[in-house]
Amino acid sequence: MKKRIAILGSTGSIGTQTLEVIAQNPDHFEVEVLTANNNIDLLIQQAKTFQPNMVVVANHCRYQQLVEALKDEPIKIFAGKEALEQVVQLDTVDLVVTAMVGYSGLIPTLKAIEAGKHIALANKETLVVAGEIITREAVKNKVNIYPVDSEHSAIFQCLAGEHMNEIEKIYLTASGGPFRNLTEAQLEKVTRDDALKHPNWDMGAKITIDSASMMNKGFEVIEAKWLFDLQPHQIDVIVHPQSIIHSIVQFRDGSMKAQMGLPDMKLPIQYALNFPLRLPSDFKRFNFLDYPKLTFEQPNTKKFRNLALAFEALKMGGNLPCILNAANEVVVQAFLKEKIRFVDMPGLIEESMQKVTNIKNPVLDDYIQTDKETRLLTTSLIKQRSKIKT
Ligand code: MG
Repeated sequence: MKKRIAILGSTGSIGTQTLEVIAQNPDHFEVEVLTANNNIDLLIQQAKTFQPNMVVVANHCRYQQLVEALKDEPIKIFAGKEALEQVVQLDTVDLVVTAMVGYSGLIPTLKAIEAGKHIALANKETLVVAGEIITREAVKNKVNIYPVDSEHSAIFQCLAGEHMNEIEKIYLTASGGPFRNLTEAQLEKVTRDDALKHPNWDMGAKITIDSASMMNKGFEVIEAKWLFDLQPHQIDVIVHPQSIIHSIVQFRDGSMKAQMGLPDMKLPIQYALNFPLRLPSDFKRFNFLDYPKLTFEQPNTKKFRNLALAFEALKMGGNLPCILNAANEVVVQAFLKEKIRFVDMPGLIEESMQKVTNIKNPVLDDYIQTDKETRLLTTSLIKQRSKIKT
């Protein structure tokens, strides 16, 4: 039996790489649902190639164009957020790959879990915003969450066969981003274009900025808490610029297990899709002699304050990680539109964390409310700031 896959966000970086993995393994997987937000041209092309049962475009304005382009194909076509929430519950879906960007992943992921679908989770913001609800619902509905994020896939792989053994701590590795070696003065001059030139691999604009600002690593810390049921003191971050070791688990006897290899997102994707069995691949193999030195250093949380803010949100709990995420989405958009500087982002996030109503034990509606409140507040903080400047 082939595993029938729904990909939420099929036109993004993870979505397209998931389709590459599926194309390489046609005996194991087939595409049941494809969804995209806006990128209709690529969605049409993917639908024609992979012949899913259904496609959904989140943006209603693109619906007619999609219908027209696929009128000769036996594919059902839907538009809008509600459709997105319904297709993840289809009987014909075995696994949902959540690869959309940001907060928009939360509700569809929750709906899929409630319908008992296993999740290959690439949308880390879902766990940042509402990790408590997501993990609780997953347990309740006997749903497995397979991490796609390479660091968490590494931890997950290190834990294979270790279910009787307690984790003492984990080390998430970080490339350090393109600005690791800049001074604080140089960091002030960083432009949008500098930030979008990530040296290591191709990713969407949002996660590229998050990687450069180290918010991505901050989110991964929170993601790890929920995926592996850890306390904040059990999670550490170590900068490893070569990105060969993808993360490390330390057990209570002091033994450490690391997962390593050349960075290629298709590997964690494939592992998540076919867990527990590894599939053969022709991904490039690691050669030790190409990397005679693997180096490690402490992250600089003075220069990259986002990481410290994420640890603070994690320790405080409640709706603070949700505030952190919403404020970050707003400041990243503002930075991409060149309304604020790179170095302005952490201050705006911190101020949002202080000013938005804190809720100790939030329920789903509180998260939805917090997200809205934070977006309004952070947007107004940005406006005030540009008024002061002009
Ligand atoms: Mg990652």
